Amino acid sequence: MSTANNSVVLPAAGITGLFVNGEWRTPANGKTMVVENPCFRSPLATIGASDKDDVDSAVAAAKASFPAWRRLAARARGAMLIELGNRITAHQEEIARVLAAETGNALRTQSRPETQSAAEVLRYYGGTIAEQKGETLPLGPGLFSYTTREPLGVVGAIIPWNSPLVLAAVKIGMALGTGNTLILKPAEDAPLAVLKIAELAADIFPAGVFNIVTGSGIEAGAPLSTNEDVAKVSFTGSLEVGKLIAHAVADRIGRATLELGGKSPCIVYPDAATPEHIDATVNGIIAAMRFARQGQSCTAGSRLYVHKSVWDEVMTRVVGKVRELRIGDALDENTDIGAIINIERYTEVRNFIKEAIDSGAEVLTGSVPASPETAKGFYPEPVIVTGVDNSWRVCKEEVFGPVLVALPWEKEEEVIQWANDTVYGLAAYVFTNDLTTALRVTEQIDAGWLQVNRAGGQIPGMSYGGAKRSGIGAEYSIESALESYTSRKSVTINV
Ligand code: NAP
Ligand code: MG
Repeated sequence: MSTANNSVVLPAAGITGLFVNGEWRTPANGKTMVVENPCFRSPLATIGASDKDDVDSAVAAAKASFPAWRRLAARARGAMLIELGNRITAHQEEIARVLAAETGNALRTQSRPETQSAAEVLRYYGGTIAEQKGETLPLGPGLFSYTTREPLGVVGAIIPWNSPLVLAAVKIGMALGTGNTLILKPAEDAPLAVLKIAELAADIFPAGVFNIVTGSGIEAGAPLSTNEDVAKVSFTGSLEVGKLIAHAVADRIGRATLELGGKSPCIVYPDAATPEHIDATVNGIIAAMRFARQGQSCTAGSRLYVHKSVWDEVMTRVVGKVRELRIGDALDENTDIGAIINIERYTEVRNFIKEAIDSGAEVLTGSVPASPETAKGFYPEPVIVTGVDNSWRVCKEEVFGPVLVALPWEKEEEVIQWANDTVYGLAAYVFTNDLTTALRVTEQIDAGWLQVNRAGGQIPGMSYGGAKRSGIGAEYSIESALESYTSRKSVTINV
């Protein structure tokens, strides 16, 4: 493995971490934070760390720029989003390398495709935002009534580190496209690629429309969520922090979109394991589990239920394929799987694995990772366990690491009950080649996004959001942007 830090082009102006009212600023209280490369546990950059003073000034700038921004024609705002998408494409490789270095997400399998998706998301919203239309209403003779879609005001967006670029693009596209102004807070573990795109955005949007505050959740995220002038908080992250955001927003009758965690099921039927289909199914199971992102995905299909009649064959192949995946430096083109984001997450994932194994889980592949004290990088091998049930923590809680629980099933009603036996309801995967089965099962699973014989990521245009405690509201489509980032104004005229 080669040391990779020196082969990335870090943000230049963006290194201050704070972009407010069209200029890069040093945080008021001079605080800084270090961003690390988790593949080597080495420092990558020292950037500014904002606190409440900086957040308040960003909110004031966003508030001041709102009246003019909302009056701009939607297609004019859309053109700016498209310009940002095109600039990301023009700088794609440079941005993807920074993303890989700070997140540990492998360049070839994750960071490069994520950078492409971020550009696509911005171009999608740029092209569709002119659909911010209202309705006319037949309220009766002599009454002319119509609605318009009004932006809410200042939006505060708080995002996690696991796919920071695409989530930044989704929030920018939805909030700015619909005529709101924005303050974006990236996660302290992965702010650099977002700062790279903020540098590209700096001269596109009018001053104050788009602002960035880097800093920790406590110091920068919490003051953003409690600021009275923030009309809406768009949050993607954990269930625990999602509850804090919901409380903070409720106090001022504000709005919130919450995209939270998951413990998504993946159900395999015997007809998906015939000689013709088994390879695609096995690849799908591995893709659904997001092993190539170290399992650090909200939609990870982390509970695998394989029909008993094909269990041996399917699991032998899944284990064989998973063992072939190459783990290492995220910037190495040969790497399939990079590193876990930080020592806290690595320790927690390790504890999940250790607890399951110590309690007698049967391990199909993988082992307890190196202790956090001695590990040179945060690299757990993929782990697959069986012989557990839903009373085990590894079955119930979101591990957010490369840990797959696999169980054989026999009766459909039982496997559907297992699938739904969770507080989450984000995603689900079904592998079957029988259309009737697919329709019957998808109808009964409580989740926001079901995929049949597919395990890829979100595609712009689809409304994506969680059921149950996986969240409130949806994103990724123009319809969800309109629902979540605007309110209807009704005008009724007595003619
Ligand atoms: P997290 O701890 O909830 O952090 C998410 C963001 O919230 C970060 O920017 C964090 O800042 C900030 N934050 C932390 N405490 C805060 C507070 N008290 N007030 C305001 N903001 C605060 O989540 P994570 O561990 O980074 O990310 C993993 C989680 O995100 C998983 O549960 C995953 O399922 C979920 N996720 C969901 C989706 C989805 O679309 N549904 C997509 C991706 C991830 P700092 O990190 O800088 O402290
Ligand atoms: Mg890091």
